[in-house]
Amino acid sequence: MPFVVILSGARNLSCSFWSSVCAFALVLVLVAPAPARATIRYDVSLAHPERHQFHVTMTVPVTSPWTFVQMPAWNALYQIRDFGARVTDFRASDAANNSLPVRRLDKGTWQIDTYSHGSAISGLRIQYTTFWDDPGPFDTQLNSDHAFINLAMILCYVPERRGEDDVVHFTDVPRDWRTAVELLPDKASPDKSAPSGAAFDTPNFVAPNYDALVDAPVEIGQFEEWSFTGGTQGAGRTIRVVYHGERVDHDALTHMLSQIVNYETGMMGGAPFPEYTFFLHVGPNYGGGGMEHANCTAISVDSFAQLMNVSAHEFFHLWNVKRIRPQTLEPVDYTREMYTRALWFAEGVTSTYAAYTLVRTGLWSHAQFLADLGQQINELESRPARAWQSAEESSLDTWLDKYSLYNRPEFSISYYNKGQLLGVALDILIRDATDNRASLDDVMRRMNREYAERGRFYDDSADVERAVEEVVRDEAVGEAEPGSAPNAVPGTEPNGEANPGVGAGPRAGSTFADFFRRYVSGTDEMPFADLLARAGLTLGMLSQSKASAVQGVPQVYYVQEAPGATERQLRIRNGIVQGTTDAGVGRPAAVR
Ligand SMILES: [Zn+2]
Repeated sequence: MPFVVILSGARNLSCSFWSSVCAFALVLVLVAPAPARATIRYDVSLAHPERHQFHVTMTVPVTSPWTFVQMPAWNALYQIRDFGARVTDFRASDAANNSLPVRRLDKGTWQIDTYSHGSAISGLRIQYTTFWDDPGPFDTQLNSDHAFINLAMILCYVPERRGEDDVVHFTDVPRDWRTAVELLPDKASPDKSAPSGAAFDTPNFVAPNYDALVDAPVEIGQFEEWSFTGGTQGAGRTIRVVYHGERVDHDALTHMLSQIVNYETGMMGGAPFPEYTFFLHVGPNYGGGGMEHANCTAISVDSFAQLMNVSAHEFFHLWNVKRIRPQTLEPVDYTREMYTRALWFAEGVTSTYAAYTLVRTGLWSHAQFLADLGQQINELESRPARAWQSAEESSLDTWLDKYSLYNRPEFSISYYNKGQLLGVALDILIRDATDNRASLDDVMRRMNREYAERGRFYDDSADVERAVEEVVRDEAVGEAEPGSAPNAVPGTEPNGEANPGVGAGPRAGSTFADFFRRYVSGTDEMPFADLLARAGLTLGMLSQSKASAVQGVPQVYYVQEAPGATERQLRIRNGIVQGTTDAGVGRPAAVR
């Protein structure tokens, strides 16, 4: 079972584990199950951090005449960034330090002759240097202030041995720095404590395979660290905060994070992690954004105010994308683009749940929730590309995000943005089709059971559609009234917008196929007025001259509560903002 170990960074490890005397020099270590054996070892020197160079020594058991070594072309962002371009002075030698022939095969692959004089050499040692000084959760940085490391950016792998155990070990760490990483320290690792005042070595950290190794970012520096107990289902879990940056009110931050953690674990029916860490960088020098990992997230924002929405989004990722994961992203191919149509769901619906979490916990008012919804509609409607690029195509084309031209409104939409709106639309339609007895929450829980808990991957939009259908069908059983739709919608609304594709609902035998065809894989205009009306909301419109702008986008549309909402519309509206359904009297959806 994973757990958190706090280790002394610079002193004798055996005597100072839990000592408050050494609390100033702690190493936070989050752990995963211990691998059975270690095969590939990485020693990473942080000497002279001001030079921004990691000096990596990789030790590989030799099993064939040739050993191929690769550096990933991408990680963290869906962008080819060719980390091999940062590698210099790549060399190989045997255990006796005799150099071995190395041949570069392509931008990220080296071939090493590991068979000489008729037999395999022993103790292949590869050495290289890689330069990183880029801030933020999607990058890696080494400077006089700290190191933040996405390990896939600095560690090569042996392609056919990615599934084997790994050991990583940091050396020449400045004496007053600490280390936080979600990897298990190898209990057998020797004590490499340095004399007082000198740089130190961390313990050996182990991972069961390369993919797990590089899903554990590392922070080394002078950070604040504290923890709280979170999670409402069963035993609480330890939530760690590793904080680097501007002064922060620990209590306020802990309160905000605990509300997010408690709501999302409650809604999803439990915490799928033994422990979880928020790696937070707050200030103008750390870049911006959040990156999800299996048992932690790395978030960098300019100010405390921005932390809330990003934290709610990243924490929900521990289900949606990390565990409820599309087959198209597995197994990871680090050398080239992996094309997926699922990011509207994996990212966009994660944003739906960030907003839901904030309003359902009271971190946002209802007015803030509706303002955000209106802002999302304005963002989509401001992009001419919505007429020809679908949410699925936007997912596929994410690899073009690195081109500034592509990000213009005429060239692309955002799968975050349209996906968030598709999530709200599906929620409203599920509630409408089941008389508010089921919701999108049930879809997330069903996919968690079907895929995450069974170790299976889902087939992009097709399996999302299937889960929606099943949730609605289950609630409709026994309620069928052939020919009488719960909220039949004519083909065209008075405002001229087409019906959303499932107006007749499951009781009349229709399905969500039309919805997915038109708005997920297709580019029909989303019928916001009709959708919102089903939830007792209206879509208002201002003239361009009266509309204010948010991040350059004129806020022409706005969402408000409909004054004359019916009892049914009110139940759906309240269900969305409170996270409840009418499936059981007084029974919140969260415990279903
Ligand atoms: Zn995300």
